[in-house]
Amino acid sequence: MERITMAHGSGGRASHQLIHDLFYKYFQNDILSQGNDASVVPNIPGRLAVSTDSFVIHPIFFPGGDIGKLAVCGTVNDLAMSGARPLYITVAFIIEEGFLLKDLEKIVSSMSQTAKEAGVKIITGDTKVVESGSADHLYINTTGIGMIPEGLQIGGQYARPGDKVLISGTIGDHGTAIMAKRKGFEFSLDLVSDCGLLNGLIDQMLSIKATIKVLRDPTRGGLATTLNEIAIQSGVGILLEEGSVPIKQEVRSLGEILGLDPMYIANEGKVIVIVDAKDAEQVLKVMKRHPMGTEAAVVGTIMDAPKGQVYLKTEIGGTRILHMPVGELLPRIC
Ligand code: MG
Repeated sequence: MERITMAHGSGGRASHQLIHDLFYKYFQNDILSQGNDASVVPNIPGRLAVSTDSFVIHPIFFPGGDIGKLAVCGTVNDLAMSGARPLYITVAFIIEEGFLLKDLEKIVSSMSQTAKEAGVKIITGDTKVVESGSADHLYINTTGIGMIPEGLQIGGQYARPGDKVLISGTIGDHGTAIMAKRKGFEFSLDLVSDCGLLNGLIDQMLSIKATIKVLRDPTRGGLATTLNEIAIQSGVGILLEEGSVPIKQEVRSLGEILGLDPMYIANEGKVIVIVDAKDAEQVLKVMKRHPMGTEAAVVGTIMDAPKGQVYLKTEIGGTRILHMPVGELLPRIC
């Protein structure tokens, strides 16, 4: 079976062949095919959003996706969180010598399909090959560029007391699915990662007249960590209602077995939305109509104190602080 060799990263004939037979074939578009050192893009009016991310997930194929789909979704989603319309993506591959060519093709094909769904073009790229043992199969870096429509002001610093906190669906699916796969749990086959594109959902939400203040995807560190970040950025307190947070039964059960709190587990297709209280119901309705938001819910309220902290109102009526976690909870889940 054909494998990646050092020659594929050498810049010589094998590199050329890989670029033409694989990357150009799947990513094909007018900008990528310019074939120069830098891709030249047409003038983009207004404010730009730029985001970069590296993907080192293990395993690279997981229930609900693969490292390629994750890379495109992750970058598109981060752009969408600023209210931007995602336009372009760049991609760099760092491949371990000996990696199966057919696995690389699967990943490239899945990136191409996800980029098409998102409406973004992959406009430039790079490939490096390192000796066997110097990397774990494959790492991907992506950078995204998007355009922010005029008049939008969205960011983690805009939450104000009285605002409502919404989540677009069940939490903890991605991290739990990855951990279950790593541990080889057979009974968890129903649970898949939520790895998916959020730009369509965000587009719908921004098309109505509502004051959306914060959009943030609760990836690493999960809902609890991301809300802590927002509380600090905005200088507010956040009260989260445990009973309103949607969590799948499998995620709860696996969480108990693995000793993981779903509140702190990564998501890859969910968005936290903070809106003016008067618009909460209307935004919720729009979210529920979109396939990425069918299980959306209002889960909390912004408070003026204690500043920079997140409180959980538990189902039995008590309250406890949801702290910022110390250290890395789950390594290499994205
Ligand atoms: Mg993010």
